[in-house]
Amino acid sequence: MEKPNDIPIRYLKGVGPKREKTFNKIGVYSIEDLLYYFPRRYEDRAQFSRIADLKEGGVYTIKANIVARGQRRSFRRRGFSIVEAAVTDETGIVYCIWFNQPYLHEYFKAGQGLILYGKVERYAGRLQMSSPEFEIIADHGQEEGAQDESLHMGRIVPVYSLPSGVGQRSFRRLIKLVLDEHLTSLNDFLPYDVRARNNLLNLAKSLVNIHFPENQESQKEAYKRLSFEEFLLFQLPLALRKLKRQEKNGIAHTVEGDLVNAFIKKLPFRLTAAQLSALAEIKADMYKPQVMQRLLQGDVGSGKTVVAVIVSLMAIQGGYQVAFMAPTEILARQHYENIAQRFAMAGGALSHIHMALLTSSGGKREKERLSKQINDGKLDMVLGTHALLEEAIEFKSLGLVIIDEQHKFGVGQRALLPKKGLNPDVLIMTATPIPRTLAITLYGDLDISVINELPPGRPAITTMHFTQMTKRSAYTIAREQMRQGNQVYIVYPVIEESYALDIAGAKKMYEQFKSGDFKDFRLGLIHGKLKKEEQDAVMLKFRNKELDLLVATTILEVGIDVPSATCMIIQHAERFGLSQLHQLRGRVGRGVNASFCLLISEAKTEESKARLEAMVKYRDGFHIAEEDLKIRGPGEFFGSRQHGLNELKIGNPLTQMHLLKTAREEAIRLTEHDPGLKERNSLALKEKLLQRFPEYKKFMLTG
Ligand code: ADP
Ligand code: MG
Repeated sequence: MEKPNDIPIRYLKGVGPKREKTFNKIGVYSIEDLLYYFPRRYEDRAQFSRIADLKEGGVYTIKANIVARGQRRSFRRRGFSIVEAAVTDETGIVYCIWFNQPYLHEYFKAGQGLILYGKVERYAGRLQMSSPEFEIIADHGQEEGAQDESLHMGRIVPVYSLPSGVGQRSFRRLIKLVLDEHLTSLNDFLPYDVRARNNLLNLAKSLVNIHFPENQESQKEAYKRLSFEEFLLFQLPLALRKLKRQEKNGIAHTVEGDLVNAFIKKLPFRLTAAQLSALAEIKADMYKPQVMQRLLQGDVGSGKTVVAVIVSLMAIQGGYQVAFMAPTEILARQHYENIAQRFAMAGGALSHIHMALLTSSGGKREKERLSKQINDGKLDMVLGTHALLEEAIEFKSLGLVIIDEQHKFGVGQRALLPKKGLNPDVLIMTATPIPRTLAITLYGDLDISVINELPPGRPAITTMHFTQMTKRSAYTIAREQMRQGNQVYIVYPVIEESYALDIAGAKKMYEQFKSGDFKDFRLGLIHGKLKKEEQDAVMLKFRNKELDLLVATTILEVGIDVPSATCMIIQHAERFGLSQLHQLRGRVGRGVNASFCLLISEAKTEESKARLEAMVKYRDGFHIAEEDLKIRGPGEFFGSRQHGLNELKIGNPLTQMHLLKTAREEAIRLTEHDPGLKERNSLALKEKLLQRFPEYKKFMLTG
């Protein structure tokens, strides 16, 4: 019998070419995809709320009939249409309005039965649902819908996110059809003992209950099983990768030596306890002949770079080359300049280390020259952007790869650089810390070190929130800072202003500020559309204190280190994510003087309010990250680049932490015991894994 994964949906009754295309757009190709297209939420249609019981601010599902409906144009915005309906059950009347969907007018008829779902507000003294979701109840005897009314009524009913043109009712019917006809051909790929150990429902039952749960309990059980299966499929490749890596022969570096000792001795400060303990963990890895894959987490300004430099020296003093990749040119250059300066100042053997900066703007000739030196082994340490990844760049003896701000790179990009050496050690750094337990499970193939304290003597950063009305107070603080000889950043979300979004842009505001609020000061402008040389020139001027104030875009977000900058103004702060705001704030408070982070914002949504509150309340990056995770949920938080997480359709690492841990333990148990997943009861699982992640075929399951 054909497997549900191999049967395209066009073989289903009622799915023609047009519908197939629509479904393809939401990632549904096969019958199995359809079964795995889970409801977004459920409605308990065994008991509807009574209109008489509706309260302002609550979210309800009601069943009602249309009493009257009408259509009008908005006064405030021309061309904006509003469709209104008054609906009633036996107990009362509630008003519903929809914006800019004029076709709804044709849809609704007086007497028509509707199911409505939405938030109840009070408007002009009466209760109203604005843009509620709705479903038209089929008239009896009419169309195909009538005979399967039990799918949509009198039970817990699934509600899906559907593309326009596909109705809830017809989708429910389709799911029901597939469940009825194809469930028996679906093989449960979870090994029996895994299921038994963790009290998991079998696959068929889970799929039935996730779509049409009999009660809340059975929905929960189905949710648990399907989440577990997702987590397991997500953890297996990580477990396999880690296993594989431990087998590989890597480099046993000379961790003790003159370069490292001289450098630490010449540092103008003492390493913090957290830096020392991270360093000890890394050192142990570097010493061992296995390949290091370590993630170094630490808040902005916690001093990761110094640690990275010391680790680099471990490789260099044994005759190996180091590649250090940063996500932006500005950052790569800054690292290069800082490190070169440190080495030069330290003198002795350190000043003889050969370093270079490789970026795409260096020009072809320069690149060729560097490329040759890298290949000849004349360069000990190369800093750069992803220009380092180009094919032409070949190292003579690459022994260590360092990747800064790893979240800015895709997983694929991250894997490329180590391939330029013979199993070099890899240190990955991130300033977007996440709670440790979560990190362990999400980066299951990496070992993790954390720098959880800032160097002593860091000045306080006062974070305050201003509105458009009160923003001049923020400017007063900024001017005061500049008069004291400090420097200021003002960040805008965009370069050019947008009338549609009603936001100001960096370019125009720079002009306005020059002759307005900041006319007594020296202003600079930096953004991504400037040529690289222009960007560097502006940064250099700012660093050399030839500028007092820098108007910028988020180009400042990562890593910029100017200790005399003490004031960061973030305009339209509601348009930035929490970790972005935190990164931006990290640009001040880096010297000795007390600093300010001034957020200017009209927070319109609950989410953006929560973000600004978190910023004012917390300085610590781990706290911020936890808040961010809570506000956005894991999918958004990790972005689409983190492999695996964007594949999670149902599992939620935050709320199902425990289940995720169990899945990880099972993944480790399975792979340690049977790394090729060759045993009989793992075969189905292996097949599923390869179906989900075909890219693992070549290097994963050979062992
Ligand atoms: P990160 O990369 O973690 O954001 P950096 O490595 O850029 O942080 O360090 C921020 C600043 O703190 C740098 O100017 C660095 O020289 C300084 N620094 C690092 N470690 C210490 C320390 N132990 N004591 C004092 N200053 C330090
Ligand atoms: Mg850094």
